[in-house]
Amino acid sequence: MAKANGISARERAEQATRHVLTVWEGGNLPAIIAQSVLAAKSATPCSKWSLGNRIAMIAQGTHDARGFQQWKEAGRNVRKGSKAIYILGPCFVKRDKEAVNSELALIGFRGIPVFRFQDTEGQPLEQSDFTPETLPPLQTVAQRIGVRVSYTPALADFMGRYIPHDKAIELCTHQPATWFHELAHAVDDFLGSMKPAKSKAQAAYKDGEVVAEFTAAALCSLYAIPYEHNALRYIEHYRKDAAKAVNRLFARIEAVLTFILEHEPAAETSNVETVAKAA
Ligand SMILES: [Zn+2]
Repeated sequence: MAKANGISARERAEQATRHVLTVWEGGNLPAIIAQSVLAAKSATPCSKWSLGNRIAMIAQGTHDARGFQQWKEAGRNVRKGSKAIYILGPCFVKRDKEAVNSELALIGFRGIPVFRFQDTEGQPLEQSDFTPETLPPLQTVAQRIGVRVSYTPALADFMGRYIPHDKAIELCTHQPATWFHELAHAVDDFLGSMKPAKSKAQAAYKDGEVVAEFTAAALCSLYAIPYEHNALRYIEHYRKDAAKAVNRLFARIEAVLTFILEHEPAAETSNVETVAKAA
């Protein structure tokens, strides 16, 4: 069993678990840390849009939407039958219709039809790379269980996800907590404890979220990242009495956390400060 500073993985798992529960009990919780999603950095037309228009676009499940002509210029065609989504563009008129260099006046907004990348076909687009320069710790754990990790811009209403049938993790943020959460799902699946759920309302789904999020909070505490409050709020969303749910699922959480710590490269246990700074 891998040992860091003479302490076994199981002991570290227990310490981290106790720490998170103690912070919860104490009620002395730090403020919730805002999560930031990855945004497309490339010079796509939408990178110049207003925030409202970009949010509207993401809500439609895409990170790249363009006008019919703009797609043509990029070597792609809008598929027949595709529905446009509408963004708002300002409408200007000349203040003085006769003057050549008249000032412009804003008279309102009009809907501009744009189409999602998914609704186009043609030349492949140059893809932006969203992978952070320094990957968060515990990458080797994902490799050990055969799970691929990729970074993508925010595509929908999730920060990250583990896709069991693909053995893949997709992350839309560089926050370590999200990575830890998805890694916990993957390990939970690897250890055979994750049960498929058809909807978010099912007990199996809720239990899986409690296990993943509490494991993430425990890992955050080991890497000196304040995350206890976020985790409590998250778990309370699924289970009213978060501590009770954690206690009920304790064996499963401990198994996931211990597995992760057992496969943590020794070099990373002494790398706490670097990770905390990146958080
Ligand atoms: Zn989850």
